[in-house]
Amino acid sequence: MRIALVSEHASPLAVVGGVDAGGQNVHVAELANALADRGHHIVVYTRRDDPHLPTRVTMRSRVTVEHVCAGPAAPIGKDDLLPHIPQFGQQLQECLRNERPAVVHAHFWMSGLAALAAAGPLALPVVQTFHALGSVKRRYQGSADTSPPERIGLERTVIDRVQRVVASCDDERRELVELGAEPDRVVIVPSGVSLTHFTPEGRAARRCRPRLLSIGRLVARKGHDDAIRVIAAHPQAELLIVGGPEAGAFESDSEVRRLRALARELKMEDRVRLTGRLAQAELPALLRSADAVLCLPWYEPFGIVPLEAMACGVPVIGSAVGGLLDTVRDGDTGLLVPPRDVPAASAAVTELLEDTAFRDRMGKAARDRAEDYEWSSVAARAERAYVAAIHAHRTNRPVAR
Ligand code: UDP
Repeated sequence: MRIALVSEHASPLAVVGGVDAGGQNVHVAELANALADRGHHIVVYTRRDDPHLPTRVTMRSRVTVEHVCAGPAAPIGKDDLLPHIPQFGQQLQECLRNERPAVVHAHFWMSGLAALAAAGPLALPVVQTFHALGSVKRRYQGSADTSPPERIGLERTVIDRVQRVVASCDDERRELVELGAEPDRVVIVPSGVSLTHFTPEGRAARRCRPRLLSIGRLVARKGHDDAIRVIAAHPQAELLIVGGPEAGAFESDSEVRRLRALARELKMEDRVRLTGRLAQAELPALLRSADAVLCLPWYEPFGIVPLEAMACGVPVIGSAVGGLLDTVRDGDTGLLVPPRDVPAASAAVTELLEDTAFRDRMGKAARDRAEDYEWSSVAARAERAYVAAIHAHRTNRPVAR
């Protein structure tokens, strides 16, 4: 099949770890690769955010990234992109007219808007993955949510009009049905993990004391601050926080300053280290050096980091939310605790650090669990969703207007 993936703000070629570059970028890149491995031809459409980018880049055989002109060729925060989406949709329509994909798979709500605007006149089916939902973000972030006010209403429109809505996990499926998706139009296609890159075998980074990691974009909802509070109760252990803006912007980043101030206040400056963003290539060795990975988000649409930890044979101490409820088997591949419950997470750390045999057993089970999430099986599930969308479109054309 020829497949169009639309990912307006999250390029598969971007360096991940910054505020707007994380799981979605990794997901789109790995999904494109895995679909190409199955023989499909993929074009990923993403917004041009740099005037020097070539229009088309060959990522590998059968995967091309096309940079779509919409708004200034400069970085724009994703919460400020909506005014440029109509132009993105127009440009996308021209591309799709030439390419004639069998299906268009949009990633994030604004890509869904652009995909529907572009695919409708060309009578192409659309599949939508949200990666994050405005209603959930509003629930947890309240007035701190900087999404455009129209977001929740527009997400409902996307849900109504696409042929298939992809949920990343059971919890998101429930949210989508609450937002009005008929259950038989929702399919679950999780994110995945590279089992050849993230392995228990291989070099481990050096360490001098028990180590915990907290990996992810430096945004409040990821709970890096709670990870610091948890480690405060374990004076023998250190915490490495991985993620953050580019090197030049690191020191002035407000979240970096907030986390450092908290570490100072708790007298833990010598035990909490912010590494900044690290390339995917550097993560396996670091993961292998850890006793456990703390994933303590307030909410989590999916969460690739827990899978990467488990694939390296490292147990996860995670919030019992979103995708972690599916990926982490409580008591078997890690320990799940209520979100924002520092004492519970701290008790989980005690359990793992004090019983190394238990920790090792969990590490082995964690790797086994991660093997259910190989990208090749994710791509097979996506492919089934595409076939269903194409069929639904043929039999019920009026949905994508
Ligand atoms: N990541 C990375 N370097 C960093 C921080 C994060 O490569 O410095 C990667 C991480 O390994 C994972 C992705 O970014 O593949 C984050 O995905 P996740 O689903 O955990 O979080 P999201 O960014 O979607 O909120």
